[in-house]
Amino acid sequence: MSIDLESTVLERITPDEKPLISSKVNEIPPCEAGESCNLPTDIVLRSSDGIRFGAHSKNLEIYSDGFPIADSVVRSAEDIILPEDSDVVLLLLRFMHYQPQPDLSLLASRLLIKFANAVEKYRVYSATGVCKVMIGLSVDDQPFEVFLYAQRHGYLSIMDKAGKLAITQEPANFFAYAHSIGDTTWRDLAELETHNLPTKEVWEALRQYPDWPPIFGAWYLKREQMREAIFDALKNPNPVLHKGGLMHCADWYPFLADVLGKMGTSIPSYKTFVQVIESCLPRLNGCTHCNIVVNNVIKSRMYTLDVIARKSLASYLDGDR
Ligand SMILES: [Zn+2]
Ligand SMILES: [Zn+2]
Repeated sequence: MSIDLESTVLERITPDEKPLISSKVNEIPPCEAGESCNLPTDIVLRSSDGIRFGAHSKNLEIYSDGFPIADSVVRSAEDIILPEDSDVVLLLLRFMHYQPQPDLSLLASRLLIKFANAVEKYRVYSATGVCKVMIGLSVDDQPFEVFLYAQRHGYLSIMDKAGKLAITQEPANFFAYAHSIGDTTWRDLAELETHNLPTKEVWEALRQYPDWPPIFGAWYLKREQMREAIFDALKNPNPVLHKGGLMHCADWYPFLADVLGKMGTSIPSYKTFVQVIESCLPRLNGCTHCNIVVNNVIKSRMYTLDVIARKSLASYLDGDR
């Protein structure tokens, strides 16, 4: 017996997501998905966690696109193995009956996303609209996953909201993902949020995908440029004359040594720079002249670091620093 699945859903999904056909011979279980459903079951859908669901091939044909159609399956004892979990398969089958629809507002966010992706994949149109609405309402719960869903299915308004939230929640992962799909707009937006992250975190996010070395190199060059800008300012601050015409008082040098030492092992961002300076201020013993020097250094770096931070990664990739 042959079932022609290739012309339907399989064109839209990757090989490891394809339903498989098992040669195991088993009884076909009764329907669990319909409310007091008396229709005969003639096909078995087996979930990825091994649960067998008796289903009606006629309903699959009417309510979806991608499951074997009724005419091609005549009371088969072979299981169709789906890549979806049993909780998703049961929901799919519930939406493929003429009955009141399950209340999706009761679903946990993770299940809702899995189900929403499945209904798009099998084109269960009785559920696509309500899933889109429910996901639009729960963007905050898992914005990265929602972004992937919205992008895959072309829901632009949800994608925009989810992307912005995902950038603030998982900047390194989002940055790496946007790079992997070649979306430079989202990549550069996410990159702006990575400046306060440890180098290792960004590197680990990027190397989940192939072709990471050039983008990591560009990102790291930018980071080093910020580090250079910070140390340049610390090495040559504009002095403020102290009493007696002195350029610095005795408290300046322990303060400077402390700042240089801490910045040497800190993330070179404006935020960290200010935090380090504030933590070292007690070493100035309240010298108002040195405090003016420090304030000037912070002010001048605020502008310089902001200019570097806003430079696009493309300029580093092109070698035009
Ligand atoms: Zn049924
Ligand atoms: Zn001083």
